[in-house]
Amino acid sequence: MTLITPTARMHASVHGGRAKCLQRLIRLDMPVPTTVALSFDAVREIAKGILPDCKTLMAPFGDQPLLSVRPSSQDPDWGGPSAILNIGMNDARHAQMVGEMGEWAATVLYLRFVQAYAVHVARLDPDEFHMPQEADAQSLRAMLKAYELETDEPFPQDPGRQLVETLRSMARAWDGTTARLLREAKGAPKDAGLGLVVQAMALGVGAGECGSGVIQYVSSTTGQPQVTGRYMSQSQGREALSNKARAIYLTEDDRGPALAELLPDVFENLLAYGDVCRRRLREEMQVEFAIDWDGLHILDAVRIQRSSRAAVRIAVSLAQDGIIPREEAVLRIQPSALSELLHRQVDPEASRDLIVRGIAASPGAAAGKIVLTAAEAQASAARDEPCVLVRRETTPEDIRGMHAAQAVLTMRGGVTSHAAVIGRGIGVPCVVGASDLTIDRKKRQIIAPDGRKFSVGDVITVDGTTGQILAGEPAMQEAALDTSFQTLLEWADDVRDIGVRANADTPADAQTARNFAAEGIGLCRTEHMFFEGDRLGVMREMIFAEEGADRRAVLDRLLPMQRADFQALFEIMQGQSVCVRLFDPPLHEFLPSDKQGLRDLAEQMALPLPEVTERVDALSEYNPMLGMRGVRLGIAIPEIYDMQARAIFEATAAVRRKGIEITVEIMIPLVSAMREVELVRARVDAVANAVMAQTRMRFAYKLGVMVETPRAALRAQDIAEHSEFLSFGTNDLTQMTYGLSRDDAGRFMSSYVQQGVYPEDPFHTLDIEGVGELIALGAARGRAGRSDVILAVCGEHAGSRAAIAFCREHKFDYVSCSPFRVPVARLTAAQLALRDRIKS
Ligand code: PEP
Ligand code: MG
Repeated sequence: MTLITPTARMHASVHGGRAKCLQRLIRLDMPVPTTVALSFDAVREIAKGILPDCKTLMAPFGDQPLLSVRPSSQDPDWGGPSAILNIGMNDARHAQMVGEMGEWAATVLYLRFVQAYAVHVARLDPDEFHMPQEADAQSLRAMLKAYELETDEPFPQDPGRQLVETLRSMARAWDGTTARLLREAKGAPKDAGLGLVVQAMALGVGAGECGSGVIQYVSSTTGQPQVTGRYMSQSQGREALSNKARAIYLTEDDRGPALAELLPDVFENLLAYGDVCRRRLREEMQVEFAIDWDGLHILDAVRIQRSSRAAVRIAVSLAQDGIIPREEAVLRIQPSALSELLHRQVDPEASRDLIVRGIAASPGAAAGKIVLTAAEAQASAARDEPCVLVRRETTPEDIRGMHAAQAVLTMRGGVTSHAAVIGRGIGVPCVVGASDLTIDRKKRQIIAPDGRKFSVGDVITVDGTTGQILAGEPAMQEAALDTSFQTLLEWADDVRDIGVRANADTPADAQTARNFAAEGIGLCRTEHMFFEGDRLGVMREMIFAEEGADRRAVLDRLLPMQRADFQALFEIMQGQSVCVRLFDPPLHEFLPSDKQGLRDLAEQMALPLPEVTERVDALSEYNPMLGMRGVRLGIAIPEIYDMQARAIFEATAAVRRKGIEITVEIMIPLVSAMREVELVRARVDAVANAVMAQTRMRFAYKLGVMVETPRAALRAQDIAEHSEFLSFGTNDLTQMTYGLSRDDAGRFMSSYVQQGVYPEDPFHTLDIEGVGELIALGAARGRAGRSDVILAVCGEHAGSRAAIAFCREHKFDYVSCSPFRVPVARLTAAQLALRDRIKS
């Protein structure tokens, strides 16, 4: 038991955050009523039935006090039992107060106490203990009678017993299962303690202008300076916030009366206290106050609740005003909160009509009419009608539809499935693996697990932040890339010690990457370029070509298109590095799989249908992801890589002519043997020399390897002898290390994680123990082969905290992640660097 004075020994880890904060307010000379703090240990004892000595506890409060008890957990966000006010009210005190402040005020106080005590301490049915409309002798009698009926004893009259029972009930409530689960969900440790503060009541009820209110000085939504809150005459606690009819505004307001007019001096004092809180507590606080015949009392102050946007604004403005260092502002923001700012979100206040839950694969929320094919999505976009593309799973053929849609929903797949990767890349909200949803193609409907049917054209919302699919369109919050956001990230960059690049395939992606200050492109997947416009047809002709010469002729038609793609990308990324990955997917992905598609292809190729079908069949593989793809294709059909290398180098020359400098890097996918690199390098070098001769220009470029097979990691030493850089592709590397299909793992992953087989989905959280060991080994062997080899990670994990920490530890040069994850990665990397500094 500690009386809170400016010098009392008081610590948040012993007495809780509220007790510590009250001491700070007292030190700042604020009019805080007398308060005693009970430590975590004391409250644990009380829960066990070892009660404090009441006389000692009540001594600081003088004769016949009225008291409140509030919870004081270490972190205020961990919650605690409800506060109990007016402890000490009994028949005698009531009779005395009737004389002092009138019957109404005294009866209100007594009624409030009986009601709170009955519900929270005696744990009686709340429905039996409503506050009555009229606070008069009759309703008081009725409530006391109800208490007696329910408990078989009169309402306790001894203030000491009232207090002790209150303390005991609050101490026990903290140990309840629900309370424990709730606080653990907010990050509280299992043994988190509860402190309690016992405070003299500032009544807020009585003769003259008495009341209570709550004030804060910035908006919880935007973080901008704005006085908000309410005051209510003859009220207690936080009542002013819930009673719209009787509460008044704080600052002058056209909508009604305000405290600033009613009690201008009190209001001025509140403003001054807000300023002191901000400067001395180094936080934006919400202050609870009461007014009575003695003037203003400050009862409590808590950190204001805040949206992510407000959190950024508040941290930056505290640092700009010199109240906290910039580094602290950088450390105060949860990196994941940034991704909320980058996208529209469902308004946290909006009600949600849940259809189904899936895996949150690309953050942000968007609503649109249901469409079931990429073609319908494009048609919908052409009509300017927002749509949601719903597919069992997406394939590269759906790319244009995904671009046209506002959001994407798939029934299959996990966080590295095609839909998820593309969704994140282009910033389209996406939910995958919603396996409880059924598509009825014939009836053109989707069927929710509860049987509700939604037809094509019905509006649904995809919340890619939470993984929820909602009926209709709830209210949304817009993205908020304000100057505070930019400033915070600039400060983060000042302390960051690992590069952050973006995975970007298109000029739009590259522009996003630039806007988010990525330091270049770490992975440009080129295959998407072959699905655009009429290129798919040309691509199919190339696949069907019998001879190398025919193939080259068709590829010559693709060359100018590829060159234009790269040129556009290079122009946007000028002054930076762009790492282009050569063609990776199996060829059959470019071929149709259904009858109609085959017929169309036969027509296009002017070939008989059986021949086309036979050729398509011949290209199909049992396990295409481990088949003829990546560098294997580059070795078997070298003309494709030749064309790509030429397009890259010609584009380099073309932008050079415009005075644009770019560092070109060419990356070979799916390597498993050093000889693959040697062969590809020889051809790429030959193309480079040819282009340099033709253009009479010299340009440097780097050639490197994507390490995404376990063998490439094991053989990194000899591979690095032929590679200027090694970029670890953690998607395929995870898939192959675990022997786990990245497209199918979603089916059983949740049961695996639930049963603790894997601690997390390894496609979501980098498996440091296994895949990480392989990467560390590959990095060390790579360095042994070439001491200055550039090391990077470019799989989907790259923007995550675990991966960035790992990469920093192993002194990697950069991580490369989806453009929308770049800000999150910049902040995460900065925080890790700062934490290291603090440790050392
Ligand atoms: C990877 O495998 O980690 C990778 C980045 O490439 P992709 O996802 O295109 O296979
Ligand atoms: Mg890969």
